[in-house]
Amino acid sequence: MTQADLLVVGAPVYTADPARPWADAVAVRAGRVAAVGPEREVAALRGPATRVLRLDGGLVLPGFQDAHVHTAAGGLELAQCDLHGVDPEEYAAAVARYAAGRPDIPFILGGGWVMDAFGVDGPHLATLDAVVADRPVLLASTDGHSAWVNSRALEVAGITRATPDPPRGRVERDAAGEPTGALHEAAMALVADLAPRPDQADWEAAIERGQAHLHRLGITAWQDAAVDADMLAAYRAVAERGRLTGRAVAALRWQVEAGEAQLADLAERRRTAGVGRLRASAVKIFADGVFENRTAAMLAPYLGGDGRPGTNLGIGMLGPEELARAVTALDGQGFDVHVHAIGDRAVRDTLDAFGAAAAANGRRDARHQIAHLQFVHPDDRPRFRRLGVVANAQPFWSCLDGYMRELTLPFLEPERAGWQYPWASLRRAGAVLAFGSDWTVSTANPLAEIEVAVRRVAPDDRDAEPFLPDERLDLPAALDAFTIGSAYALRLEAQTGSVSPGKLADLAVLDRDPFDPAAGPIGDARVLATLVEGVPVHADPTLDLGG
Ligand SMILES: [Zn+2]
Repeated sequence: MTQADLLVVGAPVYTADPARPWADAVAVRAGRVAAVGPEREVAALRGPATRVLRLDGGLVLPGFQDAHVHTAAGGLELAQCDLHGVDPEEYAAAVARYAAGRPDIPFILGGGWVMDAFGVDGPHLATLDAVVADRPVLLASTDGHSAWVNSRALEVAGITRATPDPPRGRVERDAAGEPTGALHEAAMALVADLAPRPDQADWEAAIERGQAHLHRLGITAWQDAAVDADMLAAYRAVAERGRLTGRAVAALRWQVEAGEAQLADLAERRRTAGVGRLRASAVKIFADGVFENRTAAMLAPYLGGDGRPGTNLGIGMLGPEELARAVTALDGQGFDVHVHAIGDRAVRDTLDAFGAAAAANGRRDARHQIAHLQFVHPDDRPRFRRLGVVANAQPFWSCLDGYMRELTLPFLEPERAGWQYPWASLRRAGAVLAFGSDWTVSTANPLAEIEVAVRRVAPDDRDAEPFLPDERLDLPAALDAFTIGSAYALRLEAQTGSVSPGKLADLAVLDRDPFDPAAGPIGDARVLATLVEGVPVHADPTLDLGG
């Protein structure tokens, strides 16, 4: 028998393969899993040149696949004024420090502030004016749907009390109608379009920076959930240089204004993007905004501050007919359509659109998916299986955090509040569940996200009550969603997503076995090594990789 290049022994293996969920050793040959099973049998493939990764406990599992992440944009943000994880009290000081360290840049860009630090009116420009008055400042919220700007930014953009809200956007104003420094959705572009754009070299560096961040967290494949032409060109350049060590599916961004005229261009981008581990097989459409700034498209109006229904139903980015037309056209071209939908109306309109596409084009082996799924009307849950639509879930959000307590629950009647993030219900209804982080909206750490999926409690607030505990998943279901489930969403399940003979040896190694009750919460586990085709792309310095 031909000898293996690498043996991984000394820790249980969770394979995510229902035919053999558990093993205790893996052999790798030519980048693929040559054998998985009992150590004695797998070790028979050891030859003189075989390296042995001998673990001292822990857990081996398939590399995580992040089904919805902003790797390129996140990598860019890592080099900007980064407020992720900064105490809101310290935001101004952090911006001041960043600006002082870069006197030469004409525009301060960054992001990562949390909406619940400010309440529903959002942050105020005065805070930024006090630390940066000479240059425009534009800081995206951590969800990317709002921006915090200073007075200089409003000035250069010519935004005054006389400026109308742009289509699909809103300028936050005080009682007198004066802009207060928060711009939502399409209104962000009024300032952002004036900032210097990253060039190709910036994007290439950002992709490699973002990729390294994901590899450190055990991630071997991802779907970049909104890729513009310049980002795709950078992805292609990184792949051509052989530097794309992870598998990347680029979801090409659908431009609402361009309509079906952009189809030929998207198909051409897909054709030229099949380089190395890069594919551009998906197209991303935004069906609505987010609940916290009241732009999620809802079936019933948001409640006002007085607890009574108002008239606002949110913002559908496309009308239902236009959405159905776009989805049908993309489906007809063989694209996997990836739709952002938060509100129950956006989810329903999107399911209707997938139904219309199937009726017009016939059913095919599509990997259409709806991401986020904050509100799913119970009547719509069984439609995911019937229509073959993947539930692309961000489990980290399904807990009673500040966004939920302060910006969501007060604006909902209890019945709809109970329809949120229904991961277990969707699974029971037969939906394929794929997990993603939406980094930099939230942490990219799959282990922290899985902890929320299984407990519905935030890892930094572990004594809190679980949020809708009936929607908790068990640990195997959560791991499957982050491995084989996401692989299916990415069209990679025949080659990856489980530790199975013949599949590519994309693996993650944890420092503990989260199935062991003594191991503590899974969010405390660390990734010791990440392997792509048997080659380490991340390794803890303490680990002996067997030379
Ligand atoms: Zn996203």
